[in-house]
Amino acid sequence: MTAYRDIVIAGGGMVGVSLALQLAAVLPENVSICLVEGYPLPEPVAGGKPDYHPSFDARSTALSYSSRLIYEKTGLWEDLQQWLCPIETIHVSSRGRFGSTLLRAVDYDWQALGYVVENAWLGTALIQALHRRGRVELRSPARVVAAHPRGTGTRILLEGGEDAALEAALLVVADGAASGLREQLGVAVAEAPYEQHALIANVATAEPHRGCAYERFTDQGPLALLPLLPAPGGEHRSALVWTLPPEEAEQLRTCPPPEFLQALQGRFGYRLGRLQQVGERHSYPLSLVQSTEQVRQGIVVMGNAAHALHPVAGQGYNLALRDVAELADVLREGLSQGLAAGDLSLLQRYETRQRADQERTIEFSHHLPALFMHADPVLGMARDIGLAGLDVLSPLKREFVRFAAGVAGTGERVGG
Ligand SMILES: Cc1cc2nc3c(=O)[nH]c(=O)nc-3n(C[C@H](O)[C@H](O)[C@H](O)COP(=O)(O)OP(=O)(O)OC[C@H]3O[C@@H](n4cnc5c(N)ncnc54)[C@H](O)[C@@H]3O)c2cc1C
Repeated sequence: MTAYRDIVIAGGGMVGVSLALQLAAVLPENVSICLVEGYPLPEPVAGGKPDYHPSFDARSTALSYSSRLIYEKTGLWEDLQQWLCPIETIHVSSRGRFGSTLLRAVDYDWQALGYVVENAWLGTALIQALHRRGRVELRSPARVVAAHPRGTGTRILLEGGEDAALEAALLVVADGAASGLREQLGVAVAEAPYEQHALIANVATAEPHRGCAYERFTDQGPLALLPLLPAPGGEHRSALVWTLPPEEAEQLRTCPPPEFLQALQGRFGYRLGRLQQVGERHSYPLSLVQSTEQVRQGIVVMGNAAHALHPVAGQGYNLALRDVAELADVLREGLSQGLAAGDLSLLQRYETRQRADQERTIEFSHHLPALFMHADPVLGMARDIGLAGLDVLSPLKREFVRFAAGVAGTGERVGG
């Protein structure tokens, strides 16, 4: 007889692991949850960084206020504290133009405008919390290689691990932007390549960042330097996300470090003094990927498999985390009403509740770089006025900041 689980999550990246934790926190103990991840998940550790993991890689993530609220509810915020660098100000500027604006947390009586965490540490905190809770069955390394509708649920075939097949009331497809499962299930995607790559690296600077995140728009694309906590060998460090045409990204990824630092200094300027060192460089091709369906009977598509965004505004993971929290809430409600986890009406309830947030966030992330890259002088002037205007029009600035905090369009009061 095929083994049964109420919920199977395919993909133990940042989103799959977060969902597993959220479900473990809100669903009754008798609901069985299984997480399947293709790469070996780090074992429980007393300290130190885990091994390289494709999702928890050398990048950093800017967590918004909405993510803080979600993590606070599950107790994870406390675990993360030691690895978070608060963003106290955001300096937005446009290279070669006069417009710039400074967003300051104190102007809104907030503690921070966001928090930067290195993905490796975020991964450590998430996976160690999962081990500690002990409630989620972890299958790794193992892959979900096929999924078919079966009755009201889904039949799942696994490669690696013990059981070759599982029956589940709900399969969560969280296997990333290039989701093989989404394709196998015949779920179409709308994909719009940006013809740009994001080059990421940690950079050591002569001057301290003082909690400032720099967002600099250039004619080739946006460049962000996000504040990081000090680390051995780097007292003043920032995380770079530099959006570039593919060939230039490749050249800058592979060139000798002094050449790289010189090019970055030329593009960014001296706001952080001399750029002194650069760590590992990685480059990610950028596309807007949107799944045309997110729910079916017994199936829900989440995270990058559902929507992968331009990283300019640091919204992808924060949005996915709000999806995670909403799905967990809807499942809790539905199960208490006697519905199965894969019930279509329940999954549609989730989709309806998250639709406005998803549309708003995707629009914001999609249009921001395009506006700032436009060569049209009229648009150029408009964005200068926009940036300068943002500085004086405080309600507009407040709305911009609420967007970055992930609470635009909600009544949520930011604070604390
Ligand atoms: C340069 C850059 C910077 C970013 N910065 C930010 C930021 O500051 N703030 C923010 O909110 N977002 C940011 N993002 C977005 C964020 O990184 C993504 O939202 C997040 O990585 C999505 O995670 P995921 O778990 O959906 O996908 P992935 O990270 O791709 O994870 C998918 C997982 O599924 C596993 N898998 C694949 N196939 C199978 C299978 N068949 N069976 C089992 N397992 C499988 C893979 O091994 C992998 O672990 C950034 C993105 C980029 C590119």
